[in-house]
Amino acid sequence: MREQRRYPERPSDPYPAVTGSSRDPGYRSFDGQRDIWEKKYDLVLGRPFDRITQEAVDACSDIARLTLHAQWDQGDEDHRRCWAHLRGRHPALIEHQILQASSAPGTSRHHWGTDFDMFSLTMSEWHQPPLSEAHGWLEENASIYGFSQPYCAPTEHGRVFSWGYMEEAWHWSFYPIAEALMEFASAHRDELEDRLVGLWDERDRQRSREGKPSAYRFIRSHWSSYIFNVSRDLR
Ligand SMILES: [Zn+2]
Repeated sequence: MREQRRYPERPSDPYPAVTGSSRDPGYRSFDGQRDIWEKKYDLVLGRPFDRITQEAVDACSDIARLTLHAQWDQGDEDHRRCWAHLRGRHPALIEHQILQASSAPGTSRHHWGTDFDMFSLTMSEWHQPPLSEAHGWLEENASIYGFSQPYCAPTEHGRVFSWGYMEEAWHWSFYPIAEALMEFASAHRDELEDRLVGLWDERDRQRSREGKPSAYRFIRSHWSSYIFNVSRDLR
């Protein structure tokens, strides 16, 4: 008879406080991610997203009041003014704003069916109860069930990357399959790049026909950082 694996008890608290509020089915198609990416690029998403970097604050210091690390909000006049300035003068910075916590189509781990977001997509909420306690429990126990957090703080686990996503306490990954996909991607970088660039070129041609600017310039030369600069520890 197979030995029964013993799992740790669910903590009585804070588990009940956060259960039932997982907000994302996990899987997203290329087209779904493209829609999000381009709506952000065109500042028409309809809700605040990602976050304002120091480079954006500096580039717009003469024309807009911005709060570092706040979310971009199309309803804010200063944000709209800065976004238009960046789009015209610093288009790579636009992609860099989105890439704080959101992937270009084709590079998202949400395409894999192994990754999902839980509860809140706002880091400050993960710094206070009940989510800070839930995160402590996940850090202790999630690996027993095969789950890991790929996007960690830059200083955690010796992670020092020049390009990569911010910490996402909400994004978890089923490690056994995700790691196999990472190894596959790593062994097929050239084929992957050809395919991604082909898909982005196709989108840019379509956008050009619609009178819209390219939305895939920076990612073209940095895509691999955003796929491979993640924590690959099962802790
Ligand atoms: Zn996610």
